[in-house]
Amino acid sequence: MSDRRAELAGRLARVEERITRACVTAGREPKDVTLIVVTKTYPAEDVRLLAGLGVRQVAENRDQEAAHKAASCADLALTWHFVGQLQTNKVRSVARYADFVHSVDRLRLVGALSSAAERAGRRIGCLVQVALDRESGAAGERGGAAPGEVGELADALAAAPGLWPAGVMTVAPLSGPYAGRPEAAFERLAEISTRLRARHPAATMVSAGMSADLEEAVAAGATHVRIGSAVLGVRPGLR
Ligand SMILES: *Cc1c(COP(=O)(O)O)cnc(C)c1O
Repeated sequence: MSDRRAELAGRLARVEERITRACVTAGREPKDVTLIVVTKTYPAEDVRLLAGLGVRQVAENRDQEAAHKAASCADLALTWHFVGQLQTNKVRSVARYADFVHSVDRLRLVGALSSAAERAGRRIGCLVQVALDRESGAAGERGGAAPGEVGELADALAAAPGLWPAGVMTVAPLSGPYAGRPEAAFERLAEISTRLRARHPAATMVSAGMSADLEEAVAAGATHVRIGSAVLGVRPGLR
């Protein structure tokens, strides 16, 4: 086993253990929480090693990097998640490899993604990204729709050819009433998800929790956690 493979295997096992322990604490089944490994800034070789260790779900946040990695890992049975802020001029590229887009936050993006998915002959699961710091009227810092916009966006996704509403996603806010209170933020997301599922029963994904707050996310009901540095190591530079 190469050093890097052993290192990834060890970190991956520790993250899986954290998820299992958080599930036990919350009285949930570990199989109901899916680990998505965020491989941004790390090379395709790491993605390949992770696939060899049993990882099936990977995420990226920048199209250029993701397109390259997805192409060089096309022989692997991986599900690709796009979790970064998405510009409409990138949707044609993203639609070629992304199975899920977690960052749908405006109607214009729905239209653009729909055309791109149709052109690519693919059906993309779309999560509405919720900016919980926009609830108080403050401007979101990392993209995301206001909680009150989720219904309209999900309806648009349901009506858009090539797309389907898969759920909701959030990043714990750095400002506003939820700053420093990730569990409260994720509980709010869970409420938004419950309301969404009443209208769109297939939209079951609750994407929340990163390396620092996966326990809080699992406690609040997350179905998908997005873990980068705890598996791959601390990224050089802030991204
Ligand atoms: C980078 C990133 C993650 C993973 O963050 P870590 O703290 O490295 O686990 C999760 N979600 C999004 C949207 C990201 O950009």
